[in-house]
Amino acid sequence: MSLEFLNELNPQQRQAVCHTQGPLMIVAGAGTGKTRTLTCRIAYLVREAGVDPANILALTFTRRAAWEMKQRIAHLLGEKESMLQEIGTFHSVCAKILREEIPVLGYDRDFVILTDEEQIDLLREAGAKNRAEARACLKQISAFKNRHRAETGAPPLFSEYQAALKQRNAADFDDLILLVLRLFETYPEILNRYMDRFRHILVDEYQDLNPPQYMLVHLLTGPDQNLCVVGDADQAIYAFRGAQVENFLNFQEDYPRAQILRLEQNYRSSPVIVKAAEQVVSRNTLRMEKRLWSDAETGERIRIMEVGDEKQEAGWIVSRIEKLLGGTSMFHHDTDRVQAGEDPGQYSFSDMAVLFRLRAQARPLQAAFEQAGIPCRFLSGERLDRRPEMRQVRPMLRFLADPEKDAVLPAMIKASLIALSKNREQSSLQDLIRELSGICNLDEATLRSLKAMASHYPDQTWGSALPFFLQDLSLGRESDLFDPRAQAVTLLTMHAAKGLEFPVVFICGLERGLMPYARDGNPSADEIEEERRLFHVGITRAMKELYLLHARKRILYGKPLPGEPSPFLKDIEEALFQANILQKKSRPPQKENPQLGLF
Ligand code: ATP
Ligand code: MG
Repeated sequence: MSLEFLNELNPQQRQAVCHTQGPLMIVAGAGTGKTRTLTCRIAYLVREAGVDPANILALTFTRRAAWEMKQRIAHLLGEKESMLQEIGTFHSVCAKILREEIPVLGYDRDFVILTDEEQIDLLREAGAKNRAEARACLKQISAFKNRHRAETGAPPLFSEYQAALKQRNAADFDDLILLVLRLFETYPEILNRYMDRFRHILVDEYQDLNPPQYMLVHLLTGPDQNLCVVGDADQAIYAFRGAQVENFLNFQEDYPRAQILRLEQNYRSSPVIVKAAEQVVSRNTLRMEKRLWSDAETGERIRIMEVGDEKQEAGWIVSRIEKLLGGTSMFHHDTDRVQAGEDPGQYSFSDMAVLFRLRAQARPLQAAFEQAGIPCRFLSGERLDRRPEMRQVRPMLRFLADPEKDAVLPAMIKASLIALSKNREQSSLQDLIRELSGICNLDEATLRSLKAMASHYPDQTWGSALPFFLQDLSLGRESDLFDPRAQAVTLLTMHAAKGLEFPVVFICGLERGLMPYARDGNPSADEIEEERRLFHVGITRAMKELYLLHARKRILYGKPLPGEPSPFLKDIEEALFQANILQKKSRPPQKENPQLGLF
C-alpha cells in the first residue's frame, strides 16, 4: 500500500489529510494547496482509513476542477477505485440524483435541463412581452431561487414559469438543487438513503456556497458529521449569485465539534506577489485572520503600466508576450522584435494568462492577438450552452439521444444522423464528434473543445455516454474548457480564473469604475469588498511575473471612464513594484516601442 503522496505534503496539509473522523474546516489562503489536500484526503480515506470509495462525495465549484481531481485521484489510486466515488459540481451531482429519484416529484426521469434560450422562450409563453422583459424576469427568478426562501415575495411570472417547466418535464439550472432539496425534505427515507451512502463529504471553495447549496450540504451530512470543507474567505466572489461567505465564517457554530486547520504557506507565487495580494485584501473588514507567506525566491517586482487606451494596452501585452516567448517564438526568426538582453524562451503560450473584469474587455485583446498571430483562447464563466457553436451541436446530440423527440433539424441532417446511429454501440464519443463535424462543419476550436469534453468518457460507447455528455454541455461553463496543455495564451475574466495558476499573469483595466466595477453608479461598501477579493483572486493566479495595467482613456459600454488608476493599486507598497508610463505613440501597436527599453 503506497502512501507516498503523504511525503509531498507539509505538516498542516498532512494533518488535514489524516483527520478522517468528524467535521473539519480547512481555512487557507490562495495557492496553499487546498485542492491538493482534498485530493490526497480522498486517496487517504480509501487507502488507509478503509472507506469504500462509493461512500465519498466531493463537491467542487467547476466541472473542470472535478475532472482534474478525478484525474489526480486516478493517478494516486488507480483508475478503477477512483471511478467509484462521486466527484462533481453541485449541479451535476444533483442532476444525477434527480435522474434516479425525480419520478416521486411528478417528473419523468428523462427530464430536460433547459438552455438559456429555451428558458427565454418559455417565459415568453408564460406572458413576458418581449425577449428583453423575459431576460429581466429570468434574472429575478434566478436570484430569487438562489436566495431560497428569501423574505421577499416571488418575482413576476414566477409561478407561471414554474408551471410551464413542470408541464414540459423540464428543469432549469437553479432547479436542479432546489428539486433535490424538495426531494430530501419531503421524503426522509430518500434522504436517509443518500446520507447513508455519502458518509464522507468534502467541499472545495466552501466560501462561495449559496443558501440552497449550503442547505444541501447540511441535509446530507449524517450523524457522524464526516464533513470536510475547504475555503478562503478572501476569495469569496459570488455574492452576486447569492453566495454567502458567512456560511464559511459560521462553520464552527454549525459544527461545534469542528476541528479547524490553517494552511498558510503559499506554494504558487513569489513572495512579492503574495505580499501584494495580502496588502490588497487586508483592507477588507469581513475576513478571517490568517497569514499568507511564501518561501520561494523573492522574484521579479510587479510591473504597473499606465497606457493610453485599451488598444495600446492590448498592443503592449502582445509585445511583452512576444518578448517573454523569445527563443521558442515563431516571431523571433523573421522580426527584430526580441531585444538583446532579455531572457527569452523560458515561457510558452500556455504559461500566460490575461485577466480582466468584464467580458467586454476581451475583444480588443483578441484582435491584438489575432493581428500578431498569437493563438489565444477566451474563456469566461458564462454557461456553455450560450455559445453559438454549442447551440448548433446540441439539437443534433439531442436527436441522436432520442430520435423520437422531434428536433428542429433539416431532414437531410436528420437522415445523416440516423445513419450515424447504427454504430451507437460500437464507437466512442470522440468518434461521434468527429463524424458530426463532417455533417455540420464545426470549426477547429469547437471541435477541440468537444473532443476534450468527450475524453472524460474514454471507455464507453457513445450510445451509453451521450445522455451524460449532453448533461455536461448543459451544466458546463466556458471556463470548463480550459486545457492547461493547449498551446495558447488564455484570456479569462477574473471570475473564470478561480482555482487556476499561470507563471505569467497580466491584469488589465485596473481603473476606477472598472476595478472596483461600478455597475450602476457607486458600489456599496460590501460590493467594494467583493471587488477587492476578486482582485486578490486575480493577483494570486500569478506564479512568477505579474503585470498590472491601467489606461488613461477607456470607453465602456459607450461611456468614457474617468481614466484614473484603480484605488486598489494604492494598497500595494512601493517597494513591491516598478511603475512605467507608456506615452501616446504614433506608430502602430505591433511595432516595438522605445519605452519598453525601460524594462
Ligand atoms: P486556490 O486558492 O487558488 O484554489 P489552492 O489552495 O487550492 O489554490 P492548489 O491549487 O492545491 O492550491 O496548489 C497550489 C500550487 O501549489 C499547486 O501548483 C500545487 O501543486 C502546489 N503545492 C501545494 N502543496 C504543495 C506542497 N506541499 N509542496 C509543493 N507544492 C505544493
Ligand atoms: Mg483550489
